[in-house]
Amino acid sequence: MAATRPATHLAEDRTLDDVRARLARSTHPERLRPIGMHAIVQGGDVLGHLPDLVRAYARPGSVVVLTDASSMERHGRDLKADIVALLAPFGARVVTLGTPGAEVHADLATVAHARRALAGAGCVVSVGSGTICDIGKAATQAVPIDGSPAEDGAADGSLPAGSMDGTSSAMDIPYLVIQTACSVNAFTDDMAVLLVRGAKRTLPSRWPDALVIDLGVVAGAPDVLNQAGVGELTSVFTGPADQLLASEVGLDPGYDEAVVGLFRDDAERLREVASGIARRDGASLAWLCDRMTRSGLALGVAGRTAPISGAEHAISHLLDMAAIRTGSPTGYHGAQVGVAAVVVAALWQDLLERFDPVRLLDQAPEERVARARIDQVFGRFDPSGETAEECWRLYGHKLRAWVAAGPARERLIDAWPAVRARIESLLAEPAWVVGTLRAAGAPTTFSDLGADPVTARWAVANAHLLRDRFGVLDLADLAGRWTDADVDRVLARAAAAGGGL
Ligand SMILES: [Zn+2]
Repeated sequence: MAATRPATHLAEDRTLDDVRARLARSTHPERLRPIGMHAIVQGGDVLGHLPDLVRAYARPGSVVVLTDASSMERHGRDLKADIVALLAPFGARVVTLGTPGAEVHADLATVAHARRALAGAGCVVSVGSGTICDIGKAATQAVPIDGSPAEDGAADGSLPAGSMDGTSSAMDIPYLVIQTACSVNAFTDDMAVLLVRGAKRTLPSRWPDALVIDLGVVAGAPDVLNQAGVGELTSVFTGPADQLLASEVGLDPGYDEAVVGLFRDDAERLREVASGIARRDGASLAWLCDRMTRSGLALGVAGRTAPISGAEHAISHLLDMAAIRTGSPTGYHGAQVGVAAVVVAALWQDLLERFDPVRLLDQAPEERVARARIDQVFGRFDPSGETAEECWRLYGHKLRAWVAAGPARERLIDAWPAVRARIESLLAEPAWVVGTLRAAGAPTTFSDLGADPVTARWAVANAHLLRDRFGVLDLADLAGRWTDADVDRVLARAAAAGGGL
């Protein structure tokens, strides 16, 4: 299998070695999946490694560059033209998704189109941001993606099913990724975020074989993308707290400090790095890329995005879903995540100040009532009911798991002070998140993102109804602490810190 051939002649890959050493400290190593990537090459001028990587991993067949229609520059030169020139000895051809000015959505139709265009390739090289990377993963994997749930099927405590053994299939097309911006952490895991029946879903896919992070390429990206990367990483101050909470209420099997530590240890450096991102400072971009790489690897070995994708991600997903249904452009994922992280940090503060753990035993809503609420919430943008049906499929699973986990919740009442302290140790204050976003020049409010306040409030109030991932929004809701007045109070708290609507 070509994809496992070692590329020993390439630059020493300290990131993968260091990550593996850190994961060896896991208290539950049996739950972790092996890293299926073979090389991560990051440096100031490493694009020239690409032909060696193609030689190491390609199978017989054409070399295809997969990209979108946006223009990209490296040191003032046309990046895509330079890549095609580098790959000219392999007779590389280009497949371009979308047209200039038109957004490419990672939906099943686009993946199917890419799959047809890449059929028979001996190697695919994606050149682009997270969306192109994810489409490339899904389009090059041996087994076509069918839209069935992956991690989102895990509320019963099981790890995801499917072809998720942590290695790429021998039949996957060899896949190399050129990261063109440090905007999201899609580049180093084996999942693809795709739009399924109008809902954002994270589906099992395949690992890239190799990743090239040329800091000259990243520095040439539009500032707004790398600033969005700072927003994406503010989720390390909210997402892990959601996963720890889910674990403590018996709805997540896998909180692992070794996994979370890959991106959370020393994450407070993000604040000083953020100001460097605004100046395109090389060392700051290098830190941001490395941290982003590690966060992606953490999700890959966990087999799910739960360690870093909590309420802040669900809010961003709802903004995207509303935009796509209404034909509006979607915002940058990381920028939205950063704005949402301020609100979620405010919610945690608000909840932890006043939460009586006895309310963990509040009666859960009847399924009929919960279903009617989801129909109403998602009917707003999708009168066909398709999206509500998709969301209920997973939310209903979460509700039943919550009811079934009553004994875990009873135990948590006594343990609450200690669990609360652990949760607090993972969080950041909303004003700190705002300060970090501002240092990078990233948006801090929904209006900065161009989101209208009604849609933004809708996303904040209802993001937990999207999927079966449990988190702080669910706790607030199921403990009677997420009424309209509560939503307004939390948004006001976020606004006082410089975020919110
Ligand atoms: Zn993200």
